Amino acid sequence: MGQFTSGSLEAKGIHLAFGSNKVLRGIDLSVRAGTTTSVIGPSGSGKSTLLRVMNRLIEPDQGDILLDGRSVLNDNPDELRRRIGMVFQQFNLFPHKSVGENVAFALRKLRKLSKEQARAEALEQLDLVGLKHKADVRPATLSGGQQQRVAIARALAMKPEVMFFDEATSALDPELVKGILALMADLAASGMTMVVVTHEMGFSRSVSDTVTFMDGGVVVESGAPEQVFGDPRTDRLQRFLSDVL
Ligand code: ADP
Ligand code: MG
Repeated sequence: MGQFTSGSLEAKGIHLAFGSNKVLRGIDLSVRAGTTTSVIGPSGSGKSTLLRVMNRLIEPDQGDILLDGRSVLNDNPDELRRRIGMVFQQFNLFPHKSVGENVAFALRKLRKLSKEQARAEALEQLDLVGLKHKADVRPATLSGGQQQRVAIARALAMKPEVMFFDEATSALDPELVKGILALMADLAASGMTMVVVTHEMGFSRSVSDTVTFMDGGVVVESGAPEQVFGDPRTDRLQRFLSDVL
């Protein structure tokens, strides 16, 4: 999938509450440049919120976020969202724009490219995910797997240093899941820094450099996949794994 300028990412002492609900209670996460960390854990444990805090869709109550060793909390959020690409469960494509325009839009807005340049780069990115021929149709005419490829192309078009995936395959029909996981695995192998929230334990085990298990707004265990899956140290992780595996 080409070469990337990937960055390291660090979250330090992140706290966040929604009212009286303390959702993140002192999260530390460190992702080395060019590595993939998967985040696993039960529903409601704060995984999505952590991703949203790390790209500043939500501001933390406490703590710091560092990209390439430098705090980003005072940077322009638009600039951060260019540096960290995000792919969601529900694709979040613009329904009234064509596939090509979906990819080109942020190129014009965030990377300030001309219309022609944005179109050319959008086609190039769509080609990398096998969908150049769909540039002029609306997203709704595509399968879920194809729509997710468009969302991935749109994120990669920003030339991000880090990619976040939040349950990117959870809304897909079972037969479409493999293709998206393979695309994500290619991206990981090409040296992108990635944080992947997932229920796909096979992917987590085979693709991640680090697996982080969250429960109740804290990181309960974190380590190499062999360790986290093969030798879980806490009851909470043991119980979670016996429920999902
Ligand atoms: P996960 O992704 O691990 O399932 P979330 O991060 O989505 O967990 O949610 C963690 C907790 O934060 C849940 O209790 C959820 O209800 C709450 N929460 C998430 N987003 C919001 C929000 N925008 N406003 C209020 N509460 C929220
Ligand atoms: Mg979630």
